[in-house]
Amino acid sequence: MSEAQTKVKVHVDKVNKSYGSNHVLRDISLDINENEVVVMIGPSGSGKSTFLRMLNQLETPDNGTIVVDGYDLSDKGTDINKVRENIGMVFQGFNLFNNYTVLENIMLAPVELGKMDKEKAEKKARELLETVGLAEKADVSVNSLSGGQKQRIAIARALAMEPDIMLFDEPTSALDPEMVGDVLDVMKNLAESGMTMIIVTHEMGFAKQVADRVVFFESGKIQESGVPEQVFNAPKNERLQEFLSKVM
Ligand code: ADP
Ligand code: MG
Repeated sequence: MSEAQTKVKVHVDKVNKSYGSNHVLRDISLDINENEVVVMIGPSGSGKSTFLRMLNQLETPDNGTIVVDGYDLSDKGTDINKVRENIGMVFQGFNLFNNYTVLENIMLAPVELGKMDKEKAEKKARELLETVGLAEKADVSVNSLSGGQKQRIAIARALAMEPDIMLFDEPTSALDPEMVGDVLDVMKNLAESGMTMIIVTHEMGFAKQVADRVVFFESGKIQESGVPEQVFNAPKNERLQEFLSKVM
C-alpha cells in the first residue's frame, strides 16, 4: 500500500486524564492506521485500560484530541453511539448474557440496534461461530461454556456489529492456561483478515508474532514504541528494559 492510501483510523493527540490527584494519562499522542495491529504492554496501573476506554468514550479525557474514523469525540455534533457501533470491545470478563443461548448473545446487538433483521443477524451469527470454531455451540446456554469458549463468543458478539476497529483489554488474563491458545488463534486470524486492532496483553509471544507495532505504557506515558523486533530485542527505554526482564 502506498503512503497516500494509508488511512488513520484512530488519532490521539496530547491527551491527559486524571482521577482526582492521580494523573493517569500524560500527554498521550498516538495514531493508528487502518489494518494496523497495535499491542499495548506495560505494568498494572500504567493507564492502558483507561486509554482504551477513552477511545469509545467510556472515559472522557480532561483535554487533548481523539478522532476515531474521522469523528472528533469532543465535538458536540458527533453521535457517539454511531462511533461506538464501529468499535468492538472485548474485556477480560466476558459480559455475556448468561441466561441466553450463544446464538441469542451474538444476534442481540445487531437486532436491537436495528442494524440487521433477525434472519440476517442469525446468518451472520452462524458464520461468526464458524470463524471462532464454535459452530456446534449455537443453541446451548452460555452458562455451559468454558472460559475460553465464552471469550471466543464474546469476540464473535463484538464482530456481529461489523466493526472496523476492535479493542481488546487483556482478553486472556482470566483464562486457564490451556484456553489461552484458542482465543489468541482467533485474534491472530482476525489480524490476518486485516482488522484494525488495539490489544492490551501480557502475552509477549503473541505480541511478537502478531503486532505491527508495540507500545509500552508506564506511569501514564508512552515510554517507547516500535516494531516488535525493536521493542523486544533492542529496547532503549530503561523502564521498558526492566519491565521486559520481569515478564520474559
Ligand atoms: P492499567 O490498565 O494499565 O492497569 P488503568 O488504566 O486501569 O491501568 O489504571 C490507571 C490508574 O487509574 C490506576 O492508578 C487506577 O487505580 C486508576 N483508575 C482507573 N480507573 C479509575 C476510576 N474509574 N476511578 C479512579 N481511578 C481509576
Ligand atoms: Mg487494565
